[in-house]
Amino acid sequence: MKTDTKPANDRIGWRFDNSYARLPQSLYAQLHPVPVRAPRVVIVNHALAESLGLDFRTLPEAEAALLFSGNALPDSMQPIAQAYAGHQFGHLSMLGDGRAILLGEHVTPAGERFDIQLKGSGQTPFSRRGDGRAALAPMLREYIISEAMHALHIPTTRSLAVVATGESVMRETMLPGAILTRVAASHIRVGTFEYVAGTGDKAGIKTLADYVIQRHYPDLSEAENPYLALLNSVIERQASLVAQWLLVGFIHGVMNTDNMTISGETIDYGPCAFMDAYDPDTVFSSIDQRGRYSYSNQPHMAQWNLARFAETLLSLIHPEQEKAVALAEQAIHAFPEIYQAHWLAGMRRKLGLFTEEAEDSELIASLLTWMHKHQADYTNSFRALAAETFPEDAVLQDADFVAWHARWQARLSRQSESIASALGLMRANNPAVIPRNHRVEEALAAASERGDYALMQRLLAAVTNPYADAPEYSEYRTPPAPSERVYQTFCGT
Ligand code: AMP
Ligand code: MG
Repeated sequence: MKTDTKPANDRIGWRFDNSYARLPQSLYAQLHPVPVRAPRVVIVNHALAESLGLDFRTLPEAEAALLFSGNALPDSMQPIAQAYAGHQFGHLSMLGDGRAILLGEHVTPAGERFDIQLKGSGQTPFSRRGDGRAALAPMLREYIISEAMHALHIPTTRSLAVVATGESVMRETMLPGAILTRVAASHIRVGTFEYVAGTGDKAGIKTLADYVIQRHYPDLSEAENPYLALLNSVIERQASLVAQWLLVGFIHGVMNTDNMTISGETIDYGPCAFMDAYDPDTVFSSIDQRGRYSYSNQPHMAQWNLARFAETLLSLIHPEQEKAVALAEQAIHAFPEIYQAHWLAGMRRKLGLFTEEAEDSELIASLLTWMHKHQADYTNSFRALAAETFPEDAVLQDADFVAWHARWQARLSRQSESIASALGLMRANNPAVIPRNHRVEEALAAASERGDYALMQRLLAAVTNPYADAPEYSEYRTPPAPSERVYQTFCGT
């Protein structure tokens, strides 16, 4: 391993070991980020840095700007663009990092390995017709929402920094450019497997699967059939992940197979958004005309993506094709039940239920039906239930709700745990603050159009402490007025 020579980088605490760059060269292209004209730091996530054993506090801003723009990198980084494919809205394409560069893997003092990636870092061999760049608002959007997801205890890539590039990017209009530094357990996607499978390289699939097992699922190397076990483990993590999305009202927006990680982290925050009023058919993304990735279709699409993953593993699962297919199908068919178990367990926590009763599903369903009918705010309705007294919201005075509430109270009284512990469980599982889209858009507009980052900082402070009853952030708990409602989000790449 090469050691760092630059003293400033020694102080930061980087410990790079680039295992992906030791894999077959067909998996990536080696290249450096394309330098930008006048990089300037917009935000650095010092709390995240600290958790990684990194410290950027003593790094002069100008040097931080050179680092997070990719203009000047420590020698221990071995920048690569990763190759991958992806089913985009059902159609397979060869993709790859068209505007991202993996700088390498930082190993924390505790021995955890994280990808450090720049997004918006210039053209690569995978750019196709794209400019390789990113606009400031979408990069800040990813920063805000990924950090909010983390605070909601949902597995996600993280955001370490955003720099403005001092260059403009051409979209519908000219926009300020930016680069995001993303931290991830890895950037290996379902689409990475599809890429290798697409080249017909059977040995390559085994190499990639073995690498993934070693990196993300080390216990499986002992399994009787490690590759079937890998499929089952990814199914388990994705079922858990998507259940957590639905429990907080999150809609990813572009669940293409290139945007689904093998590690089970949420990745690629594009037109994603949180639902305000409860409606299972909610779609925000402007490019999702048919509701393929609507709120309630997400579990189904996760299963569809996992079937694409399973197909790439068939030759490893069993040498006889027919047996391999039967085993893979059995695994994929188990998804709905695994997903449902995670979702139901989460819903029980949201309702303060420590025990299980057969009628719980019906109790939950009738609350959701009521919320849908009354266009009740998803987040606030659950949070209101966690209040000490009967919720005062006007909509909750409705007779159907009062009847449901009595049923729920009776259910709570049938468990031995106190009402106080039930309320505690609820407050820990029903956020008060989510990054509501109208607030996110407002903060991004201030930053991108006026260079004013105060709203973004305030929003970040609120959404990264989502379970607190913080009166000073009460504006973030108010659903959008009709005039403030955001109906569509854009990829805005
Ligand atoms: P996404 O929608 O961000 O998941 O990206 C899908 C694919 O398009 C990936 O291969 C990206 O690298 C690529 N891509 C998106 N935006 C750009 C861009 N501005 N320049 C080059 N490639 C891009
Ligand atoms: Mg993507």
